[in-house]
Amino acid sequence: MKNNINKIKLNARNPLTAKEYFSAIQNGNRAILSKAITLVESTNQKHQKIAEELIELCLPHSGNSIRIGVTGVPGVGKSTLIESFGSYLIEEKNKKVAVLAIDPSSKKSGGSILGDKTRMNNLSINDNAFIRPSPSSGTLGGVAKTTRETTILCETAGFDVVLIETVGVGQSEIEVKSMVDFFLLLMLAGAGDELQGIKRGIMEIADGIFINKADGENTKKARLAIQEYKNAIHLFPPNLNNWIPKVDSCSAIENKGVDRIWEVIESFKNLTISNGSFHENRKKQAKFWLEHTIQESVKSLFYTDEKVATKLKELENDVLEGNLSPFKAAKELVSIFKS
Ligand code: GDP
Repeated sequence: MKNNINKIKLNARNPLTAKEYFSAIQNGNRAILSKAITLVESTNQKHQKIAEELIELCLPHSGNSIRIGVTGVPGVGKSTLIESFGSYLIEEKNKKVAVLAIDPSSKKSGGSILGDKTRMNNLSINDNAFIRPSPSSGTLGGVAKTTRETTILCETAGFDVVLIETVGVGQSEIEVKSMVDFFLLLMLAGAGDELQGIKRGIMEIADGIFINKADGENTKKARLAIQEYKNAIHLFPPNLNNWIPKVDSCSAIENKGVDRIWEVIESFKNLTISNGSFHENRKKQAKFWLEHTIQESVKSLFYTDEKVATKLKELENDVLEGNLSPFKAAKELVSIFKS
């Protein structure tokens, strides 16, 4: 079975069925895994149909990884860290590591954080690692949907750590938070203004804050930064899962502190599994994506409706001129949509 599937030619004239994709992915066929992710990313309706079927088949076999979001401003060392942390997990902890990236904002590199530099050289050639850049286009919600489904495919393929890299500058963090178990924020030790570099809201959703580049002359500054962030964390409202975010430092380039990151994640996992919040969180996430997807779909149906589009232009003018209340206009548009 495995051999047959491995021999299947990957070309457009020989499309696989969802079941064939599924068996190949379960057998660890990486070429087919890549191909299946492309299917999940595709906007072609035929592809989407197979992708949906495939995700259904995979779902019962998914969920067995720890999903970790890695964020921080560009240049903080995310990919260097993922390279050293990923290699550590594979070599020291016998893990299989998948790395996915979300960067819907980046246009210049074709939307791929991982594609713009030669990165993660060791990891990319490791049999126990799988690296997938983000799709080159799409709305944030679309990229996030793809990443969530890609996670399911990777878990079915036996990857037990999924690292999701995202740039720590905007709204994407909130969506990433809604698809990971543990959210790791990388920071730099600055000269005093520690809380400036990154939005406060992102710090509040972090489960672990690691000051990277804690090496050479930076070592002392990193120690001071740890204290500052620890103090800052005390001011945040407590987490419902009883987890107190941990602050520490690491040097991705010198492979220092990556073991500590794993220790923190393990203790997070132990605590949240034992108090039930780990699975509760996943359920909440599934609910979030259900609601989010309904909202997005309804919105898209609404705005692409021709009758609505024509009337919207007209009513918008009236609203802007002050002749019609926005609420009345909205109500009228919704009733046109429903009729
Ligand atoms: P990203 O944009 O967050 O993915 O950052 P990169 O991983 O590309 O790293 C940005 C720069 O910082 C590169 O030149 C890295 O070599 C350097 N860098 C990353 N981690 C460390 C570290 O732990 N120590 C030092 N000194 N430099 C680092």
